[in-house]
Amino acid sequence: MDLTTLERLPLWIGGAPTPSRTARYGEVTNPATGEVLRHVPFATREDVDLAVRAASSAWDAWRAAPALRRARVLMRFRELMETHKKDLARLVSQEHGKTLIDAEGSITRGIEVVEFATGIPHLLKGEFSDTVGTEVDSFSLRQPVGVCAGITPFNFPAMVPMWMFPLAIACGNTFILKPSERDPTMSLRMAELLKDAGLPDGVFNVVHGDKEAVDAILTHPGIRAVSFVGSTPIAKYIYETGTAHGKRVQALGGAKNHAVVLPDAHLGFAAEALIGAAYGSAGERCMAVSVVVAVGEAGDPLCDALAERVRKVAVGPGDKPESEMGPVITCAARDRIVGLIDRGVAEGAKLVVDGRKARIPGHDAGFFVGPTLFDHTKPGMAIYQQEIFGPVLVIVRERSLDDAIALINANPYANGAALFTRSGFAARRFQQQAEVGMVGINVPIPVPMAFYSFGGWRNSLFGDLHVHGMDGVRFYTRGKAVTARWPDDGSAAPGFHLPTLG
Ligand code: NAD
Repeated sequence: MDLTTLERLPLWIGGAPTPSRTARYGEVTNPATGEVLRHVPFATREDVDLAVRAASSAWDAWRAAPALRRARVLMRFRELMETHKKDLARLVSQEHGKTLIDAEGSITRGIEVVEFATGIPHLLKGEFSDTVGTEVDSFSLRQPVGVCAGITPFNFPAMVPMWMFPLAIACGNTFILKPSERDPTMSLRMAELLKDAGLPDGVFNVVHGDKEAVDAILTHPGIRAVSFVGSTPIAKYIYETGTAHGKRVQALGGAKNHAVVLPDAHLGFAAEALIGAAYGSAGERCMAVSVVVAVGEAGDPLCDALAERVRKVAVGPGDKPESEMGPVITCAARDRIVGLIDRGVAEGAKLVVDGRKARIPGHDAGFFVGPTLFDHTKPGMAIYQQEIFGPVLVIVRERSLDDAIALINANPYANGAALFTRSGFAARRFQQQAEVGMVGINVPIPVPMAFYSFGGWRNSLFGDLHVHGMDGVRFYTRGKAVTARWPDDGSAAPGFHLPTLG
């Protein structure tokens, strides 16, 4: 099926494209041109119920399959993702706006989770204790939870779903993905490739949509676990509603990631690293650096070095090789970001580089905001407090490392934080004391590899377990401990007292 020629996208249920019963559709646009590419159905409760029924009927056979067989399907899926990577990156770039190289990188990071998931026979190994009592042995199992759902944001239409479904299905669950309605086509391509890899029908399903589909997922008695990635208010809602309906939920929220630069840091290196971290993907990354905390005399030279480089960022459509930064996702997102820049100016921050008037020749209808830099930002200002999720970097000046750490720890978001320094002592203090989920030392975007887990603290995560790595395995499985004895005859039958096994 050539999805890109379809005017209306289908759902994907039971291993096949399936029309929605909805009368409501949304527009999928190319952010670089403003052109409407296709329409996405907003699934109804009945659509979601159909997907749950397909996923439920596929579960018995899938969970009974040896873990190695499940892993082999993922090995083939990994090969197909690699083979089609360039085309997939084009699709991500077309609907999201990010540059092709960045889109390809995000697919690679997703593939790494598939690679981790192919080790599932090893990851699911339990514990065994011989003779915990007289002729009694004990062992532990991890078993799948059932039908799982993933609800994902627009900024990584391939990678974020791949944080979830490869491990979920490797563990023996079946899965329903509700991708972002802004860039939904990638999820259907992955569904096709999973089928080509030999995944049985019904194990992976896609329902598109908005709040109606999400609410149907959160309240459906047939769904046991929900993974969510998106903004903080929705993450909180998903966690509260999903858990109130008896589901286990992990809900990753928004971010305001700080990078602290000490005066002893290599400032040229730090500035160059921060440019990519702040403006890559037009700042639409949950791990984007959006606040630089310049400590002491690092302030002036760092601001100058950043400003010089920010003015040179090549802004343009994602499919042009020379573009370093593409558009933001929608016209509304552009207006919101420009409004926040206006507020920063009104509240007294120093606007060093102004991206409000960015115009890209031939792309007048595209949703472009130029890279923007503020200095002398104060914590009470809206540009500090809100997640801008656009190409806006703000500099806050602090006097010491401890002041910088206190600033980070007082922020309601707590996804990632980075430190630039040449001091091992300062680095160790920072990694010990920064109260966030992911720390970088001279690494601006410390996204853990697939075999570690990814997630934040405070308002950046609702729930206990992070995604992928061993947290992912724990989330998608339930623990069971078996205590077993095989008596030869009935002479040593347990009595009325609580057995102590000794
Ligand atoms: P969003 O919260 O608007 O949407 C995320 C998902 O929730 C989408 O599938 C959307 O359809 C659904 N949704 C939106 N409004 C809803 C509502 N009222 N009720 C139920 N469901 C609803 O987020 P977004 O704009 O797509 O993505 C950007 C956000 O995601 C940013 O805040 C970013 O920081 C965050 N994000 C976080 C991480 C992380 O790892 N913590 C990773 C990527 C993105």
